[in-house]
Amino acid sequence: MDTYQATPPSNAVMLFGGKDVSDWTTRDGQPAGWKVEDGILHVVPRTGDIMSTERFTDFFLHLEFRCPDMPEAVGQAKGNSGVFLQGRYEIQVLDSYGLDIPGKGDCGAIYDQFAPLVNACNPPMEWQTYDVIFRAARVNDAGSVQEPVRLTVLQNGLVIQNNVQLPGVTGAALDEQVGEPGPLLLQDHGDLVCYRNIWAVHLPLEGSDTYEPR
Ligand code: MG
Repeated sequence: MDTYQATPPSNAVMLFGGKDVSDWTTRDGQPAGWKVEDGILHVVPRTGDIMSTERFTDFFLHLEFRCPDMPEAVGQAKGNSGVFLQGRYEIQVLDSYGLDIPGKGDCGAIYDQFAPLVNACNPPMEWQTYDVIFRAARVNDAGSVQEPVRLTVLQNGLVIQNNVQLPGVTGAALDEQVGEPGPLLLQDHGDLVCYRNIWAVHLPLEGSDTYEPR
């Protein structure tokens, strides 16, 4: 199966299907500055992060990304971008290909919180996939967190985050209103990272509480 061209299910919300970025804005609501060429969404360095106009609570996300080849660059300067779930929790995008034991700043990490379980990275200039199952924080009426965010991430079909519970937002989060829905936000970290085929499925917060079907 070609996971790279995963077909969205019928109930998916297409966030970037290859045409334009009309469904995206900058952090402050201005038109997104990234460019679309040949169906691919390109970071335009220093135009800023972009975020979807769609807001999410619990959701499934699929996207595809490609890091540039920067052989001279090291560490956080090597093909950096990021996928911020609800605009608050960054899954790192970086060229970490070939690292034996990736750390909490490497590709597939929940930035500075959880390193990926394994290094699932493809080489730079190859397309890669993230598939994410995201369960939002549960917050009571007083605004305190009753159940933290939980998420599972697959990179190129391999599980790299297994139902981790996040202690809070990651650096550069859009806000800390963790009980509120949030957008998908993609990071401009100054590098020529590309994205394509971005879609999500809104998930109900829970199933029926009855045994018999209704
Ligand atoms: Mg990043």
